[in-house]
Amino acid sequence: MSYCPKCGERVSDQDRYCLNCGTRLDVQFKTSPISKPTDLWYVTAFFLNIFGGIIGYFAVKDNDQNMANRLLIVGFISLVLLLIFVFIGIPLLFMLASQQQSPTGVYLA
Ligand SMILES: [Zn+2]
Repeated sequence: MSYCPKCGERVSDQDRYCLNCGTRLDVQFKTSPISKPTDLWYVTAFFLNIFGGIIGYFAVKDNDQNMANRLLIVGFISLVLLLIFVFIGIPLLFMLASQQQSPTGVYLA
């Protein structure tokens, strides 16, 4: 069974054009209905930050434009989270660590 790549309407293998929307039916498209990109791209976008988001964007934009946009957003949010961690989290950890090393120093100073 084949499907129109544009409108998703069921078409017969003999049809050269979609009866519903008139799209020319490519042999390549006819054998496989539109495949959804894997959700693993979200994981990639999250761990590689904005780079993963951009890579994922170009990888899936032909199949799923909405998902491509979401990948960019996920990559961007991930980048912001990383920056927050680097500029606030790490200095905070160092501050807490130095306080624990000399607990009496705080009171004697
Ligand atoms: Zn069609």
